[in-house]
Amino acid sequence: MRVMNFNAGPATLPLPALERAKDEMLDFAGSGMSVMEHSHRGKEYEAVHHEASALLRELLGVPASYDVLFLQGGASMQFAQIPMNFLAQGKVGEYVVNGTWGEKAVGEGKVTTALLGGAVHVAASTGTGDGKEKSYTRASKQAELAFAKPDAGETAYLHFTSNETIHGIEYGTHPDVPLLSAPASPDAPAGVPLICDMSSDFLWRKVDVSPYAFIYAGAQKNIGPSGVLVVLAQKDFVARGRKDLPKIFQYRTAAENDSLYNTPPTFGIYLVRNVLAWVKDKGGLAWVEAQNRAKAKALYGAIDGHGGFYRCPVEASSRSVMNVVFRLPSEALEDKFVAEAKKHQMVGIKGHRSVGGIRVSTYNAVPLEWVSALADFMKQFAKDNG
Ligand SMILES: *Cc1c(COP(=O)(O)O)cnc(C)c1O
Repeated sequence: MRVMNFNAGPATLPLPALERAKDEMLDFAGSGMSVMEHSHRGKEYEAVHHEASALLRELLGVPASYDVLFLQGGASMQFAQIPMNFLAQGKVGEYVVNGTWGEKAVGEGKVTTALLGGAVHVAASTGTGDGKEKSYTRASKQAELAFAKPDAGETAYLHFTSNETIHGIEYGTHPDVPLLSAPASPDAPAGVPLICDMSSDFLWRKVDVSPYAFIYAGAQKNIGPSGVLVVLAQKDFVARGRKDLPKIFQYRTAAENDSLYNTPPTFGIYLVRNVLAWVKDKGGLAWVEAQNRAKAKALYGAIDGHGGFYRCPVEASSRSVMNVVFRLPSEALEDKFVAEAKKHQMVGIKGHRSVGGIRVSTYNAVPLEWVSALADFMKQFAKDNG
């Protein structure tokens, strides 16, 4: 029996996408072998590869001036590969830090620039405390950005994380969050290429891709298994990358070769195709967004409805639709909550080890019924233990 899996990533996958893989496992498209056993240069695999990128383009409305790339190395590799490509000597990469993933991007950027030139600068951070682990309770606001170099020509990009998976902090739950459009304040010169780590909130709703120079997302949160990383990047921006890097680290290599320069993670991309086909089949991103908003409403409603018992540390305007974090009155009660939820077939809700508490991830593949069941469980648990 399948359990109600609220894991943060790798995360639950849509049952129809898995069943399709099961059905096609031994004999893919009448070829007498699985898709894993096909050459990545053969027509059977190539059809899957192109369908996956075509589905992404269709669902998100990706403009023709953008490349869709499938890479490896996860989002973590992008933390190094982005500054490698775009920070030549004298250029500054600006970073907005609202949690652990932003911190990691800055950390790898510093190492990379020490080796290859350029610099990274934190334009804004909402971290507080000076211990090993900073705490975060909200996203930075546009007015808080302060760039190292006022001249846009010297600023290579502005990098931010749209959803901090560990802290449950997301941009864009409000339509007017200004970072999602091109920077326009006096401190953030217009025309600075916007780079976004969208790993944990990619494809939960339709996003206008056009303000971004470069979007990247690890598949294992919302669109597939681990091992695949999706990039949507402006072709002009990719063309600006350094040319003196090993080919495998230049984004243009993947762009020029349709992500088939070397062997891609074929089975992972196949599963991404299955997930995207499922999204389309269900009614596309409008359906997905409505589901996700209903799930978030149910969970935050259960938290706020028992405000003395559950507490969400994130400011209301920055609460994540994908990763809902909350605390109980004591760690002992949190342990009991996790253990009792498990008895009800609800798993994957323990908070990240660095912050503790509870984290419920409600990616696209998590059905509303699971969340309703969890919300009911929360109400009962608060009554019994409050
Ligand atoms: C999970 C995650 C990462 C790291 O992804 P890997 O594929 O493990 O490298 C980076 N950024 C965000 C926002 C994430 O959620």
